[in-house]
Amino acid sequence: MALDLDAIIAEIADGMAKVEHRGRVADYIPELAKVDPAYFGMAVATADGRMLCGGHATTPFSIQSISKVFALTLALGKVGDQLWNRVGREPSGNAFNSIVQLEHEQGIPRNPFINAGAIVVADVNLGGHQPRVAIGELLRFVRYLSGDDGIAINEAVAASETMTGFRNMALANYMRAFGNIHHAPELVLGSYFHQCAIEMDCRQLALAGRYLMLDGRHPGGGRVVSPRRARRINALMLTCGHYDASGDFAFRVGIPGKSGVGGGILAIVPGRASIAVWSPGLNASGNSQLGTRALEELAQRTGWSVFSPPPD
Ligand code: GLN
Repeated sequence: MALDLDAIIAEIADGMAKVEHRGRVADYIPELAKVDPAYFGMAVATADGRMLCGGHATTPFSIQSISKVFALTLALGKVGDQLWNRVGREPSGNAFNSIVQLEHEQGIPRNPFINAGAIVVADVNLGGHQPRVAIGELLRFVRYLSGDDGIAINEAVAASETMTGFRNMALANYMRAFGNIHHAPELVLGSYFHQCAIEMDCRQLALAGRYLMLDGRHPGGGRVVSPRRARRINALMLTCGHYDASGDFAFRVGIPGKSGVGGGILAIVPGRASIAVWSPGLNASGNSQLGTRALEELAQRTGWSVFSPPPD
């Protein structure tokens, strides 16, 4: 029986609008603390070219750590597998901004999706240029992926994090001491904070993720990455995309996903769908509480999972 995706999404969005306990909005970046936790949005781009939306799917939000997926894709394009000499590919089992593992592991972050790993990726993407050049490149890339030139950076969010990002400063300086950051830490962080401050809505984000559902192809023609690279990025999203809650996300939802403290999640069903959800309230691991719940419900109702044969 054909899935009535429209109805499923509308029902999930309706259900989420009524939930009372919505988690806590991130407040360590003051600008993000201002966002109303009542928002919930969802968008699904399907492999056969449809776009289905529910709730606040066209309200822009700060993509934060979801940007790490696009930054990683760019860095792999620049330095290929050499990236893995500077950053690992294992789940960390620690919070997104943890510093403890770095000392034991000589300044090599566990994976590109924890903050330390993403700061190394930002260092690679800087490539001797000024932050605005690297940021311009990332922004152009995201616009190309989603086919939408309206995507922009929220400067107030970037400034807010620059004022308060002491932990990220510590991570960058600490890795610099091990020789794993090659540029001045303030330049790397300037670039990193701006990439996190990119704003997109669910619709744009689901469109931007399509190359990961299409084995690396751009739906408009041509290739973004090789099939192998797309699969590897999906593998990293599944194992590391939700920090120390990645196992729980795989258990509950069963598809690759990357979260951000703005409350967004990009989730990929290979060959089927690129999904974006957004609800600003976070759980204790810094992942969207209702976003995770909505994806769990969507996966259950569609049968989408990377752990079972595709449903008919
Ligand atoms: N900009 C945020 C930070 O570095 C991103 C964290 C996140 O989204 N998990 O703290």
